Amino acid sequence: MPFMKSKKHLSFSSLRNAFSSHLRQLPDDRQEGKVNYSIHDAMMCAFACMFFQDPSLLQFQKQLEDEQNLNNLKTLFDVHNIPENTQLRDIVDTIPSQEFRSIFKELFFRLQRGKHLEQYQFLPGLYLCPIDGTQYHISGEIYCESCLITNHTNGNTTYAHKVLQAAIMHPEMKQVIPLMPEEICNTDGTEKQDCETNAAKRLIPKIRKDHPQLGLIIVGDDLFSRQPLINTILNEGMHYILVVKETSHIAMFNERLGVIP
Ligand SMILES: [Zn+2]
Repeated sequence: MPFMKSKKHLSFSSLRNAFSSHLRQLPDDRQEGKVNYSIHDAMMCAFACMFFQDPSLLQFQKQLEDEQNLNNLKTLFDVHNIPENTQLRDIVDTIPSQEFRSIFKELFFRLQRGKHLEQYQFLPGLYLCPIDGTQYHISGEIYCESCLITNHTNGNTTYAHKVLQAAIMHPEMKQVIPLMPEEICNTDGTEKQDCETNAAKRLIPKIRKDHPQLGLIIVGDDLFSRQPLINTILNEGMHYILVVKETSHIAMFNERLGVIP
């Protein structure tokens, strides 16, 4: 069946193998002899937790008390030794997120090669690429040096981690194709808090670097409709559809409405 053959590189086991072999190539700086669990197995467990959509890592671990679930995990995700909750977190924490850039690229190229990307074309040769920020950690107590810090008027402080996510979308397609997200976090030596706009200025050139030939229309909310970011988008040979609010683009709205200030 030629149809099945063309989709083979997108089957679960094929994608799992691609992810697996990528994880096996990750550098492991841990001291030999002190290592009980491989980076591969820890990362695969974390991935499986997301794949099965368990509400928490703890819940995921609990499911594994059941022999059948445990065997499923071992067979489906090629995991041999399963670390406990804390050990799993400790291992996952040591992997810089940038290490996953190439896996996003690899999966994207598989869609491209299999002609699956074409159906996402919005205009001839152009794909819609919305960008938006999302928060994945917030706490009043747990924090690290990269946390985004918010001092609230009531005197409370919250610590958060966010990412700016880009994805190829089409209004008639149910699935979206996520690209490698950009972390929004503070780095050493910067006094100013990182923000979505700065993350977008880093993300756009990275998307272009990963996909030099791809025709893209960046889509975003009012936050992004500012000259410096638009210049970044244009410099990378991309197009844009951005929301403009009346309150943030007063001169532009006045001009359109023919109001002389
Ligand atoms: Zn943090």
